[in-house]
Amino acid sequence: MYRIRFHGRGGQGMKTASRILGSALFQQGYEVQDAPRYGAERRGAPIFAYVRAAKVLINERGIIRHPDLVIVADDTLVPIPAAGVLAGMDQHSVLFINSSTSADEWRSRLNLTGPVLTLPLTADIEDRAVPYVGAACAGAAACLLGVIPQQSLAKAIEDELSEHGAEVVRKNQQKAAQAFEAIAKHTGIVSEAEDISAHDYVDPGWLDLPFEQASISAPTIHAGLTSVEVKTGLWRTLRPVIDYERCNKCWWVCSSFCPDGAINVSNDGQPEIDYDHCKGCMVCVAQCPPHAIETIPEQQALQREEQT
Ligand code: SF4
Ligand code: SF4
Repeated sequence: MYRIRFHGRGGQGMKTASRILGSALFQQGYEVQDAPRYGAERRGAPIFAYVRAAKVLINERGIIRHPDLVIVADDTLVPIPAAGVLAGMDQHSVLFINSSTSADEWRSRLNLTGPVLTLPLTADIEDRAVPYVGAACAGAAACLLGVIPQQSLAKAIEDELSEHGAEVVRKNQQKAAQAFEAIAKHTGIVSEAEDISAHDYVDPGWLDLPFEQASISAPTIHAGLTSVEVKTGLWRTLRPVIDYERCNKCWWVCSSFCPDGAINVSNDGQPEIDYDHCKGCMVCVAQCPPHAIETIPEQQALQREEQT
């Protein structure tokens, strides 16, 4: 069985990528499962989608824990443990990253022994904070599996996207074909994991689920004051940056309007943004009277941090 995971941010088309790949595999005679898994329903929040495909009945359910192929649409997610990009990978798993950084650099940074491939899919669409790369990611995955001809990929894109019109279908087919061809020398690099878990699964006659107190069965939900544990800063694709030369320390406007309470004000009235919990909604930018808060793409802000 093939097990493929697509990781990206909300708005990048990972659900679409999984559907396109699933449709293309189905055309090739595979049994297929494809499904997205969301955390927060918001653009920029980390999400993943997964595909299982086998020539036999698939009994395995749930998220993929040991992937044969991981496709990453946004390279800023790779080092973030909460995004789970590297979860369950071993030397057999292939990692494909949409990145302009070299594969060797990623292999060394992540200390991986398995195959790592990179391709800068978004180089020509840098103007979008959350670049859509769904079809291109599906194209790359199809090539790496080596069991999907380009015609089936194009047909799957038509099946999945036809409601958006012929031009959208054509552009997505083109993007998918470009990605497919760009990594053609790695065709078929992904192999099916040997084991098919749950192959000998037998339905239980009866399942006894004992009742538990809510404080035991759902401790995190039950406990108070846990929102601080949710690092909504992960969702951010645009970063607000305060220009303290222009800030007149009015102190209350930005901190009061921030829906996440992510702006703290020091005793002398200076606002400070908590980037662990700022989700990049830009409400503060719109509300600041002297326009002292600037908007910077997150990628650019990270590059600046690396240089300093
Ligand atoms: S609203 Fe603008 S001027 Fe007022 S404290 Fe915030 S950044 Fe400074
Ligand atoms: S962008 Fe501004 S208003 Fe929005 S969460 Fe971040 S600090 Fe708060």
